[in-house]
Amino acid sequence: MADIVRRVTTTASHPTLAEVISVLEQMYDPFWARDWDAVGLVCGDPQAPVRRVLMAVDPAPTVVEEALAWHADLVLTHHPLLFRAVHGVPTSTPKGRIVHQLIRANCALYTAHTNADVAAPGVSDALARVLGLTDLVPLSPDPTEPLDRIVAFARSEIVGNVVDAVVTAGATTAGPFRGGADGDGGAGRERRVEVVSPRAARSGVVAALQSVDPEISHEVYELATSSSPRGIGRIGRLSAPTTLREFAMLVAEALPSTTQGVRVAGDPTAEVSRVAVCGGAGDSLLDTVRTSGADVYVTADLRHHPAFDLREHGGDGPPYLVDVAHWASEWPWLAGAANRLAGAMEVAGSPIEVLVSVKCTDPWTFRVPSPGGVVR
Ligand SMILES: [Zn+2]
Repeated sequence: MADIVRRVTTTASHPTLAEVISVLEQMYDPFWARDWDAVGLVCGDPQAPVRRVLMAVDPAPTVVEEALAWHADLVLTHHPLLFRAVHGVPTSTPKGRIVHQLIRANCALYTAHTNADVAAPGVSDALARVLGLTDLVPLSPDPTEPLDRIVAFARSEIVGNVVDAVVTAGATTAGPFRGGADGDGGAGRERRVEVVSPRAARSGVVAALQSVDPEISHEVYELATSSSPRGIGRIGRLSAPTTLREFAMLVAEALPSTTQGVRVAGDPTAEVSRVAVCGGAGDSLLDTVRTSGADVYVTADLRHHPAFDLREHGGDGPPYLVDVAHWASEWPWLAGAANRLAGAMEVAGSPIEVLVSVKCTDPWTFRVPSPGGVVR
């Protein structure tokens, strides 16, 4: 599988864990994580130096052994170690043992889960790209951050102070109203100042206006929301139509080998071209897939009833289903994320080594074919 993404010999100083996390959080903002999720730093000293980072899908014992043998300072995993609340981490529990092992070895653990799923590029982008899909858009886009346009009318001699105050209070300078103040207005004349601001910052921005001039008149307009480039799943197209059987073989070839292999629902001779994907368990998106125009949906952990219902809606036609192992569907993300992290640290003047784990953490270890083949 993959090996070290970047091995750097350098005299540059090593970044702190906090500096590495700061770069990671630009790639995978914790704010994007779903509210039920548990992302971020699990253990580690933010001031400790980081030279080596091991990336993996799961914080499994084999991954931790690999990290400690390589003297990693940070393990970055997709899945959380402590997904549900715990009251302690004694070594008599599997997860407690991992926490102790990591702390004893001065190795931090950090999780980027649903914030990496929705990121652009994120987990499903990586899955889509190894399958050769192009023209990718989110299958279920996140809404964009709600924004306001705030218009104030300020005496020309205080316009500079007004712009400084609202930007300090969180108004962005995006859009056509960049720090906008129009008219040439001589002293004493009123000028129009427009800024775009996150809705969450509205009260602070208005207070900032009033701190410069308590009498200032202003208007607030809520801007319409639109689709974000971020979101769960991706939909795109193959470079040329193919059959469902050929496509399933392409999936099997592109993903790491697992006990499950690739399960398919649909006519093997059916033509497919438009493909939806979701790394990890994707049955919550089946309704979206049904109305998306996808010919086939690639995901993991599909259960009997949701899969049955979707195929019932489709009759003999699309969308067809391709079910792969959960671990295999998320593994392609690691290489791209490792490259981005290593590249960003190098640009920042603090190069690090980033390694993608070679441990397969798919829990299934063998399979027995039904004697006599499949009953139809
Ligand atoms: Zn997952």
